[in-house]
Amino acid sequence: MSRNVLVLAEIRDGGIRSVTFEALGAARLAAEGGTVNVALLGAGVSVHESALREQGADRIYKVEHEALRHYTPDAYTQAFAALLKETAPDCVFMGHTAIGKDLAPRVAAKFGWGLISDVTDIALVDGELVFTRPIYAGKAFQKKKTTEAVVFATIRPNNIQVGKPDASRISETVDFKVEFTDLRSTVRHVVRQSLGRVDLAEAKIIVSGGRGVKSVDGFKPLEELADVLGAAVGASRGACDAGYCDYALQIGQTGKVVTPDLYIACGISGAIQHVAGMSNAKIIVAINKDPEAPIFKIADYGIVGDLFEIVPLLSNEFRSALI
Ligand code: FAD
Repeated sequence: MSRNVLVLAEIRDGGIRSVTFEALGAARLAAEGGTVNVALLGAGVSVHESALREQGADRIYKVEHEALRHYTPDAYTQAFAALLKETAPDCVFMGHTAIGKDLAPRVAAKFGWGLISDVTDIALVDGELVFTRPIYAGKAFQKKKTTEAVVFATIRPNNIQVGKPDASRISETVDFKVEFTDLRSTVRHVVRQSLGRVDLAEAKIIVSGGRGVKSVDGFKPLEELADVLGAAVGASRGACDAGYCDYALQIGQTGKVVTPDLYIACGISGAIQHVAGMSNAKIIVAINKDPEAPIFKIADYGIVGDLFEIVPLLSNEFRSALI
């Protein structure tokens, strides 16, 4: 059964977020020979058309408008809802990101559709779409089919393989106009606290610190290791609560959910609420001076010892290996 799929392209810091390409891969699978449309919303977004085409878009609906330069719930809901009416999709995919988590339920509710959120895998089984998503804070996974007329899903970053770009693909671009009404909010400037590092949600490697780092300065060896590896820095709530780092770094049930290839947990005990945010990492390395720490139960590699000795040793080793 061929399907008509609509994917939201999400732009951040001047580039398309990789979760959009993951959603496009899922869309190509779900389309089964049908059409993959992409909603490209923003101001000055034409530069992104080729990347979307090469990753699987058949038709790009471009909505250029100053009101879409930065995300606002009002403007994006109006533009995306207009595109849903225009394209009449069978499936709608977007990232399970701050934008996707805000926009998807708004639009799904507006149309009276259900929503499958935080999807980590999509498969075709006997021609039906089966969605996998975590439940019980990541302790179990649920496989879901839906009988909804339109399947609406948000996709967790870093879980679905991005296909190889194909420069020979062709796509059509439609300049789609939206008449905005009653926009209640305008973003004038975005002032971002710059941590100057890789985005946690999309990082392939994360070096994370817990209460065991003991101070703000205690994070420095972890930051050094992260710099050597091109990694993001994360933290447990214990470290955030103690004031050693910003809450933006918190990973876990009430923080960010991450799925890197490599997660290095330093001085983190492995409380269930922390594990809920990182247990899907492909390889987990734990450094803890307590051999009984629960983090070792889920770690692929465990190092029992003082993080202040081990982390600098790792930095030196990786630095010389990577030269
Ligand atoms: P601790 O449990 O104190 O562990 C510190 C570890 O460091 C110990 O294992 C110790 O052996 C080790 N250590 C100490 N010194 C060294 C050293 N020099 N070298 C090596 N190891 C050392 N937590 C989260 O992380 N994320 C969440 O999203 C989250 N949400 C929560 C939601 C709720 C509703 C509740 C109730 C709790 C939540 N928590 C969350 C808190 C969670 O229960 C734990 O309290 C927290 O994860 C503990 O942080 P920690 O592992 O850094 O600290």
